[in-house]
Amino acid sequence: MMRPSPYDWLESSLDAIHRADWHRSVKPLLGKPGPVIEREGQILLNFGGNDYLGLAGDARLAQAAIAAIQTYGTGSTGSRLITGHRMVHDQLEHAIAQLKQTEAAIVFSSGYLANLGTVSALVGKRDVILADQYNHSSLKQGAILSGATMMEYRHCDLANLQQQLRDQRAKFRRCLIVTDSVFSMDGDLCPLPPLLDLAETYEAMVLVDEAHATGVFGQTGAGCVDYWGCTGRPLVQVGTLSKALGSLGGYVAGSATLIDFLRNRAPSWIYTTGLAPADTAAALAAVQVIQQEPQRRDRLWQRVDALRQNLQSSYPALPKGFQWLPSQSPILCLQVDRPATALHLSQTLQSLGLFVPAVRPPTVRTSRLRITLMATHTSAQVEQLANALKTVIGG
Ligand SMILES: *Cc1c(COP(=O)(O)O)cnc(C)c1O
Repeated sequence: MMRPSPYDWLESSLDAIHRADWHRSVKPLLGKPGPVIEREGQILLNFGGNDYLGLAGDARLAQAAIAAIQTYGTGSTGSRLITGHRMVHDQLEHAIAQLKQTEAAIVFSSGYLANLGTVSALVGKRDVILADQYNHSSLKQGAILSGATMMEYRHCDLANLQQQLRDQRAKFRRCLIVTDSVFSMDGDLCPLPPLLDLAETYEAMVLVDEAHATGVFGQTGAGCVDYWGCTGRPLVQVGTLSKALGSLGGYVAGSATLIDFLRNRAPSWIYTTGLAPADTAAALAAVQVIQQEPQRRDRLWQRVDALRQNLQSSYPALPKGFQWLPSQSPILCLQVDRPATALHLSQTLQSLGLFVPAVRPPTVRTSRLRITLMATHTSAQVEQLANALKTVIGG
Protein backbone atom coordinates (compact mmCIF):
# COMPACT_ATOMS: atom_id res chain seq x y z
CA MET A 1 0.00 0.00 0.00
CA MET A 2 1.17 3.53 -0.82
CA ARG A 3 1.73 5.61 2.23
CA PRO A 4 -0.37 8.78 2.22
CA SER A 5 1.72 11.87 1.49
CA PRO A 6 1.39 14.95 3.71
CA TYR A 7 0.94 16.90 0.45
CA ASP A 8 -2.11 14.94 -0.82
CA TRP A 9 -4.48 17.64 0.37
CA LEU A 10 -3.08 20.04 -2.22
CA GLU A 11 -4.59 18.04 -5.05
CA SER A 12 -8.00 17.68 -3.44
CA SER A 13 -7.99 21.35 -2.58
CA LEU A 14 -7.22 22.23 -6.21
CA ASP A 15 -10.02 19.88 -7.33
CA ALA A 16 -12.46 21.85 -5.20
CA ILE A 17 -11.18 25.12 -6.71
CA HIS A 18 -11.78 23.70 -10.21
CA ARG A 19 -15.28 22.44 -9.35
CA ALA A 20 -16.28 25.95 -8.20
CA ASP A 21 -14.99 27.48 -11.47
CA TRP A 22 -12.55 29.49 -9.36
CA HIS A 23 -9.34 28.11 -10.85
CA ARG A 24 -6.83 30.61 -12.26
CA SER A 25 -3.65 30.29 -14.25
CA VAL A 26 -1.23 32.65 -15.97
CA LYS A 27 -0.83 33.48 -19.67
CA PRO A 28 2.13 35.50 -20.91
CA LEU A 29 1.66 38.82 -22.69
CA LEU A 30 4.06 39.34 -25.56
CA GLY A 31 5.74 42.69 -26.14
CA LYS A 32 5.04 46.00 -24.45
CA PRO A 33 1.82 46.73 -22.59
CA GLY A 34 -0.66 49.06 -24.30
CA PRO A 35 -4.18 49.28 -25.76
CA VAL A 36 -3.32 46.39 -28.10
CA ILE A 37 -1.64 43.28 -26.74
CA GLU A 38 -0.66 39.82 -27.92
CA ARG A 39 -1.84 36.97 -25.72
CA GLU A 40 -2.33 33.26 -26.44
CA GLY A 41 -1.31 33.84 -30.06
CA GLN A 42 -4.04 36.43 -30.55
CA ILE A 43 -3.90 40.20 -31.07
CA LEU A 44 -6.39 41.69 -28.61
CA LEU A 45 -7.74 45.08 -27.60
CA ASN A 46 -6.71 45.39 -23.97
CA PHE A 47 -9.33 46.38 -21.39
CA GLY A 48 -7.73 44.53 -18.51
CA GLY A 49 -4.75 46.41 -17.06
CA ASN A 50 -4.24 49.20 -14.54
CA ASP A 51 -1.93 51.21 -16.80
CA TYR A 52 -4.53 54.00 -16.99
CA LEU A 53 -2.30 56.61 -18.64
CA GLY A 54 -0.43 54.20 -20.92
CA LEU A 55 2.91 54.93 -19.24
CA ALA A 56 4.13 51.35 -18.70
CA GLY A 57 5.22 51.21 -22.35
CA ASP A 58 6.34 54.88 -22.53
CA ALA A 59 9.83 55.43 -23.97
CA ARG A 60 10.66 58.15 -21.41
CA LEU A 61 10.14 55.78 -18.48
CA ALA A 62 12.21 53.12 -20.23
CA GLN A 63 15.01 55.66 -20.85
CA ALA A 64 14.98 56.74 -17.20
CA ALA A 65 15.19 53.10 -16.10
CA ILE A 66 18.09 52.36 -18.47
CA ALA A 67 19.99 55.46 -17.32
CA ALA A 68 19.49 54.45 -13.67
CA ILE A 69 20.83 50.95 -14.34
CA GLN A 70 23.88 52.47 -16.04
CA THR A 71 24.46 54.76 -13.05
CA TYR A 72 23.50 52.52 -10.13
CA GLY A 73 23.45 48.94 -11.43
CA THR A 74 20.51 46.54 -11.30
CA GLY A 75 20.14 45.69 -7.62
CA SER A 76 19.91 47.86 -4.53
CA THR A 77 22.09 45.29 -2.67
CA GLY A 78 20.52 45.79 0.74
CA SER A 79 17.84 47.40 2.84
CA ARG A 80 17.43 51.15 2.53
CA LEU A 81 18.83 51.59 6.05
CA ILE A 82 22.13 49.81 5.24
CA THR A 83 23.35 49.86 1.61
CA GLY A 84 20.12 50.06 -0.43
CA HIS A 85 19.56 53.82 -0.40
CA ARG A 86 20.38 55.92 -3.50
CA MET A 87 19.88 59.56 -4.50
CA VAL A 88 17.12 58.43 -6.88
CA HIS A 89 15.06 57.19 -3.89
CA ASP A 90 15.34 60.63 -2.30
CA GLN A 91 14.35 62.27 -5.57
CA LEU A 92 11.29 60.06 -5.97
CA GLU A 93 10.20 60.55 -2.35
CA HIS A 94 10.46 64.32 -2.74
CA ALA A 95 8.55 64.22 -6.02
CA ILE A 96 5.73 62.18 -4.45
CA ALA A 97 5.52 64.51 -1.44
CA GLN A 98 5.39 67.48 -3.80
CA LEU A 99 2.66 65.84 -5.92
CA LYS A 100 0.61 65.01 -2.82
CA GLN A 101 1.38 68.33 -1.11
CA THR A 102 2.54 66.51 2.02
CA GLU A 103 5.63 67.12 4.15
CA ALA A 104 7.22 63.82 3.24
CA ALA A 105 6.88 60.46 1.52
CA ILE A 106 8.53 57.04 1.65
CA VAL A 107 8.69 54.40 -1.09
CA PHE A 108 8.26 50.68 -0.47
CA SER A 109 9.04 47.76 -2.78
CA SER A 110 5.33 47.36 -3.61
CA GLY A 111 1.96 48.84 -2.71
CA TYR A 112 1.12 45.58 -0.96
CA LEU A 113 4.19 45.94 1.28
CA ALA A 114 3.39 49.62 1.92
CA ASN A 115 -0.03 48.64 3.30
CA LEU A 116 1.27 45.68 5.33
CA GLY A 117 4.02 47.78 6.89
CA THR A 118 2.00 50.91 7.53
CA VAL A 119 -1.10 49.32 9.06
CA SER A 120 0.98 47.05 11.29
CA ALA A 121 3.19 49.96 12.40
CA LEU A 122 0.31 52.29 13.27
CA VAL A 123 -1.83 49.97 15.40
CA GLY A 124 -1.40 46.99 17.71
CA LYS A 125 -3.22 44.77 20.21
CA ARG A 126 -4.84 47.58 22.19
CA ASP A 127 -6.21 49.28 19.07
CA VAL A 128 -9.11 48.96 16.64
CA ILE A 129 -9.22 49.08 12.83
CA LEU A 130 -12.49 50.04 11.15
CA ALA A 131 -12.33 48.93 7.55
CA ASP A 132 -14.58 49.14 4.49
CA GLN A 133 -15.69 45.60 3.66
CA TYR A 134 -14.48 45.94 0.04
CA ASN A 135 -10.94 47.04 0.90
CA HIS A 136 -7.93 45.58 -0.90
CA SER A 137 -6.39 42.32 0.32
CA SER A 138 -3.19 44.10 1.45
CA LEU A 139 -5.16 46.24 3.91
CA LYS A 140 -6.91 43.17 5.32
CA GLN A 141 -3.63 41.29 5.70
CA GLY A 142 -2.02 44.36 7.29
CA ALA A 143 -4.81 44.39 9.87
CA ILE A 144 -4.21 40.72 10.69
CA LEU A 145 -0.46 41.32 10.98
CA SER A 146 -0.99 44.28 13.31
CA GLY A 147 -2.82 42.21 15.95
CA ALA A 148 -5.42 45.00 16.32
CA THR A 149 -9.14 44.22 16.53
CA MET A 150 -10.56 44.54 13.01
CA MET A 151 -14.17 45.45 12.35
CA GLU A 152 -15.63 45.91 8.89
CA TYR A 153 -18.28 48.47 8.08
CA ARG A 154 -20.66 48.11 5.15
CA HIS A 155 -19.24 49.33 1.84
CA CYS A 156 -19.10 53.16 1.82
CA ASP A 157 -21.80 53.24 4.52
CA LEU A 158 -20.80 56.12 6.79
CA ALA A 159 -23.85 55.72 9.03
CA ASN A 160 -22.64 52.20 9.75
CA LEU A 161 -19.10 53.49 10.35
CA GLN A 162 -20.40 56.16 12.73
CA GLN A 163 -22.36 53.59 14.69
CA GLN A 164 -19.24 51.46 15.10
CA LEU A 165 -17.20 54.50 16.16
CA ARG A 166 -19.87 55.38 18.72
CA ASP A 167 -20.04 51.83 20.09
CA GLN A 168 -16.37 50.87 19.94
CA ARG A 169 -14.07 53.89 19.98
CA ALA A 170 -13.84 54.31 23.78
CA LYS A 171 -12.90 50.64 24.29
CA PHE A 172 -9.62 51.00 22.45
CA ARG A 173 -6.44 53.07 22.67
CA ARG A 174 -5.96 54.10 19.01
CA CYS A 175 -8.39 53.81 16.13
CA LEU A 176 -7.48 53.56 12.44
CA ILE A 177 -10.12 53.91 9.73
CA VAL A 178 -8.94 52.22 6.54
CA THR A 179 -10.39 52.60 3.05
CA ASP A 180 -9.58 52.43 -0.65
CA SER A 181 -10.27 55.78 -2.34
CA VAL A 182 -11.19 54.09 -5.65
CA PHE A 183 -12.45 50.55 -5.05
CA SER A 184 -10.36 48.38 -7.32
CA MET A 185 -12.93 45.69 -8.20
CA ASP A 186 -16.02 47.95 -8.18
CA GLY A 187 -14.89 51.30 -9.57
CA ASP A 188 -16.75 53.50 -7.09
CA LEU A 189 -15.28 56.10 -4.70
CA CYS A 190 -15.12 56.43 -0.94
CA PRO A 191 -16.92 59.63 0.18
CA LEU A 192 -13.77 61.05 1.73
CA PRO A 193 -14.78 64.49 3.15
CA PRO A 194 -17.55 63.23 5.49
CA LEU A 195 -15.38 60.24 6.43
CA LEU A 196 -12.59 62.61 7.51
CA ASP A 197 -15.12 64.66 9.52
CA LEU A 198 -16.22 61.52 11.35
CA ALA A 199 -12.61 60.57 12.02
CA GLU A 200 -11.95 63.99 13.51
CA THR A 201 -14.99 63.77 15.79
CA TYR A 202 -13.96 60.36 17.12
CA GLU A 203 -10.20 60.99 17.24
CA ALA A 204 -9.42 58.33 14.69
CA MET A 205 -6.52 58.15 12.23
CA VAL A 206 -7.38 57.57 8.56
CA LEU A 207 -5.43 55.54 6.02
CA VAL A 208 -6.61 55.99 2.44
CA ASP A 209 -5.35 53.72 -0.34
CA GLU A 210 -4.97 55.75 -3.55
CA ALA A 211 -3.73 52.84 -5.70
CA HIS A 212 -6.24 53.43 -8.52
CA ALA A 213 -6.52 57.20 -8.02
CA THR A 214 -2.94 58.44 -8.29
CA GLY A 215 -2.34 59.86 -11.75
CA VAL A 216 -6.04 59.52 -12.57
CA PHE A 217 -7.91 61.91 -10.22
CA GLY A 218 -7.21 65.54 -9.32
CA GLN A 219 -5.89 68.50 -11.30
CA THR A 220 -2.27 67.34 -11.15
CA GLY A 221 -2.98 63.62 -10.81
CA ALA A 222 -2.46 63.73 -7.03
CA GLY A 223 -5.45 61.41 -6.50
CA CYS A 224 -8.85 61.45 -4.80
CA VAL A 225 -7.62 63.38 -1.75
CA ASP A 226 -7.04 66.31 -4.09
CA TYR A 227 -10.20 65.61 -6.14
CA TRP A 228 -12.31 65.82 -2.96
CA GLY A 229 -10.56 69.01 -1.80
CA CYS A 230 -9.00 67.27 1.20
CA THR A 231 -5.37 68.18 0.49
CA GLY A 232 -3.61 69.16 3.71
CA ARG A 233 -5.98 67.34 6.08
CA PRO A 234 -4.25 64.96 8.50
CA LEU A 235 -4.15 61.61 6.72
CA VAL A 236 -2.03 58.62 5.89
CA GLN A 237 -2.01 58.29 2.09
CA VAL A 238 -0.82 55.02 0.59
CA GLY A 239 -0.52 54.17 -3.08
CA THR A 240 1.32 52.25 -5.71
CA LEU A 241 3.88 53.07 -8.38
CA SER A 242 2.66 50.13 -10.47
CA LYS A 243 -0.68 51.31 -11.87
CA ALA A 244 -1.03 54.74 -13.54
CA LEU A 245 2.67 55.36 -12.79
CA GLY A 246 3.65 52.40 -14.95
CA SER A 247 6.50 51.10 -12.76
CA LEU A 248 6.75 48.96 -9.62
CA GLY A 249 6.68 49.87 -5.93
CA GLY A 250 4.47 51.57 -3.36
CA TYR A 251 4.51 54.74 -1.30
CA VAL A 252 3.18 56.42 1.81
CA ALA A 253 2.77 60.21 1.92
CA GLY A 254 2.00 62.27 5.02
CA SER A 255 3.57 64.29 7.79
CA ALA A 256 7.35 64.25 8.30
CA THR A 257 6.72 62.66 11.71
CA LEU A 258 4.68 59.84 10.19
CA ILE A 259 7.33 59.09 7.56
CA ASP A 260 10.17 59.20 10.10
CA PHE A 261 8.18 56.83 12.30
CA LEU A 262 7.61 54.38 9.41
CA ARG A 263 11.35 54.34 8.62
CA ASN A 264 11.82 53.13 12.19
CA ARG A 265 8.82 50.87 12.66
CA ALA A 266 7.52 49.44 9.36
CA PRO A 267 8.99 45.93 9.08
CA SER A 268 8.13 45.53 5.38
CA TRP A 269 10.31 48.58 4.66
CA ILE A 270 13.13 47.97 7.16
CA TYR A 271 13.76 44.28 6.42
CA THR A 272 13.52 44.19 2.66
CA THR A 273 15.87 45.25 -0.13
CA GLY A 274 15.42 48.79 -1.38
CA LEU A 275 13.35 49.35 -4.50
CA ALA A 276 15.52 48.68 -7.58
CA PRO A 277 17.12 51.79 -9.16
CA ALA A 278 15.40 51.14 -12.52
CA ASP A 279 11.90 50.94 -11.01
CA THR A 280 12.59 53.99 -8.85
CA ALA A 281 13.79 56.09 -11.78
CA ALA A 282 10.89 54.99 -14.02
CA ALA A 283 8.40 56.01 -11.32
CA LEU A 284 10.16 59.36 -10.92
CA ALA A 285 9.84 59.98 -14.66
CA ALA A 286 6.15 59.01 -14.45
CA VAL A 287 5.45 61.47 -11.63
CA GLN A 288 6.92 64.21 -13.84
CA VAL A 289 4.84 63.12 -16.85
CA ILE A 290 1.54 63.03 -14.94
CA GLN A 291 2.12 66.58 -13.70
CA GLN A 292 3.30 67.96 -17.03
CA GLU A 293 0.73 66.23 -19.25
CA PRO A 294 -2.79 66.79 -17.87
CA GLN A 295 -4.03 66.08 -21.40
CA ARG A 296 -3.43 62.36 -20.72
CA ARG A 297 -5.90 62.50 -17.86
CA ASP A 298 -8.34 64.55 -19.98
CA ARG A 299 -8.20 61.93 -22.71
CA LEU A 300 -8.75 59.09 -20.25
CA TRP A 301 -11.87 60.79 -18.88
CA GLN A 302 -13.14 61.45 -22.42
CA ARG A 303 -12.92 57.72 -23.08
CA VAL A 304 -14.70 56.93 -19.80
CA ASP A 305 -17.53 59.37 -20.63
CA ALA A 306 -17.85 58.01 -24.18
CA LEU A 307 -18.16 54.41 -22.94
CA ARG A 308 -20.71 55.34 -20.28
CA GLN A 309 -22.82 57.28 -22.79
CA ASN A 310 -22.65 54.51 -25.33
CA LEU A 311 -23.74 51.91 -22.76
CA GLN A 312 -26.60 54.09 -21.52
CA SER A 313 -28.05 54.74 -24.97
CA SER A 314 -29.52 51.99 -27.12
CA TYR A 315 -28.48 49.20 -24.81
CA PRO A 316 -30.25 45.83 -24.70
CA ALA A 317 -31.96 44.99 -21.42
CA LEU A 318 -29.58 43.08 -19.17
CA PRO A 319 -30.38 39.41 -18.57
CA LYS A 320 -31.58 38.44 -15.09
CA GLY A 321 -28.67 38.38 -12.64
CA PHE A 322 -26.59 40.90 -14.64
CA GLN A 323 -25.92 44.36 -13.27
CA TRP A 324 -23.64 47.29 -14.09
CA LEU A 325 -22.02 48.32 -10.82
CA PRO A 326 -22.08 52.07 -10.09
CA SER A 327 -18.72 53.47 -11.22
CA GLN A 328 -17.07 56.87 -10.89
CA SER A 329 -13.70 55.87 -12.33
CA PRO A 330 -12.06 54.24 -15.38
CA ILE A 331 -13.00 50.87 -13.82
CA LEU A 332 -16.40 49.59 -14.99
CA CYS A 333 -17.76 46.25 -13.80
CA LEU A 334 -20.58 44.05 -15.07
CA GLN A 335 -21.67 41.82 -12.22
CA VAL A 336 -23.10 38.45 -13.22
CA ASP A 337 -24.81 35.57 -11.46
CA ARG A 338 -22.13 32.86 -11.51
CA PRO A 339 -18.35 32.48 -11.97
CA ALA A 340 -18.96 30.28 -15.05
CA THR A 341 -21.00 33.09 -16.62
CA ALA A 342 -18.19 35.58 -16.09
CA LEU A 343 -15.67 33.15 -17.60
CA HIS A 344 -17.92 32.46 -20.56
CA LEU A 345 -18.45 36.18 -21.29
CA SER A 346 -14.72 36.84 -21.04
CA GLN A 347 -13.98 33.96 -23.44
CA THR A 348 -16.61 35.15 -25.91
CA LEU A 349 -15.17 38.67 -25.84
CA GLN A 350 -11.73 37.17 -26.45
CA SER A 351 -13.05 35.37 -29.52
CA LEU A 352 -14.19 38.82 -30.75
CA GLY A 353 -10.68 40.18 -30.22
CA LEU A 354 -11.03 41.84 -26.80
CA PHE A 355 -9.32 41.13 -23.50
CA VAL A 356 -11.78 41.77 -20.64
CA PRO A 357 -10.90 39.71 -17.55
CA ALA A 358 -13.39 37.85 -15.36
CA VAL A 359 -12.91 38.52 -11.66
CA ARG A 360 -14.21 35.77 -9.41
CA PRO A 361 -14.24 34.73 -5.76
CA PRO A 362 -12.32 34.88 -3.52
CA THR A 363 -11.17 38.24 -4.98
CA VAL A 364 -14.80 39.41 -4.96
CA ARG A 365 -17.97 37.89 -3.54
CA THR A 366 -19.92 38.03 -6.81
CA SER A 367 -18.27 37.36 -10.15
CA ARG A 368 -17.92 40.09 -12.72
CA LEU A 369 -16.27 41.34 -15.87
CA ARG A 370 -13.83 44.13 -14.99
CA ILE A 371 -13.28 46.67 -17.77
CA THR A 372 -10.53 49.28 -17.46
CA LEU A 373 -9.90 52.11 -19.89
CA MET A 374 -6.64 53.81 -20.83
CA ALA A 375 -5.77 57.32 -22.04
CA THR A 376 -4.17 55.67 -25.04
CA HIS A 377 -7.31 53.86 -26.25
CA THR A 378 -8.74 55.50 -29.38
CA SER A 379 -12.43 56.39 -29.47
CA ALA A 380 -12.86 53.75 -32.19
CA GLN A 381 -11.45 51.12 -29.82
CA VAL A 382 -13.88 52.16 -27.08
CA GLU A 383 -16.75 51.96 -29.57
CA GLN A 384 -15.60 48.49 -30.57
CA LEU A 385 -15.75 47.47 -26.90
CA ALA A 386 -19.27 48.86 -26.50
CA ASN A 387 -20.46 47.01 -29.63
CA ALA A 388 -18.86 43.75 -28.53
CA LEU A 389 -20.47 44.05 -25.10
CA LYS A 390 -23.88 44.51 -26.76
CA THR A 391 -23.29 41.40 -28.84
CA VAL A 392 -22.26 39.13 -25.98
CA ILE A 393 -24.82 40.38 -23.48
CA GLY A 394 -27.65 40.46 -26.01
CA GLY A 395 -27.16 36.84 -26.96
C1 LIG B 1 -2.94 46.99 -6.59
C2 LIG B 1 -3.35 47.47 -5.25
C3 LIG B 1 -2.46 47.44 -4.17
C4 LIG B 1 -1.11 46.78 -4.26
O1 LIG B 1 -0.22 47.52 -5.00
P1 LIG B 1 1.03 46.75 -5.69
O2 LIG B 1 1.99 47.86 -5.93
O3 LIG B 1 0.49 46.12 -6.90
O4 LIG B 1 1.54 45.77 -4.69
C5 LIG B 1 -2.87 47.98 -2.98
N1 LIG B 1 -4.11 48.51 -2.83
C6 LIG B 1 -4.99 48.54 -3.84
C7 LIG B 1 -6.34 49.14 -3.63
C8 LIG B 1 -4.64 48.01 -5.08
O5 LIG B 1 -5.53 47.99 -6.06
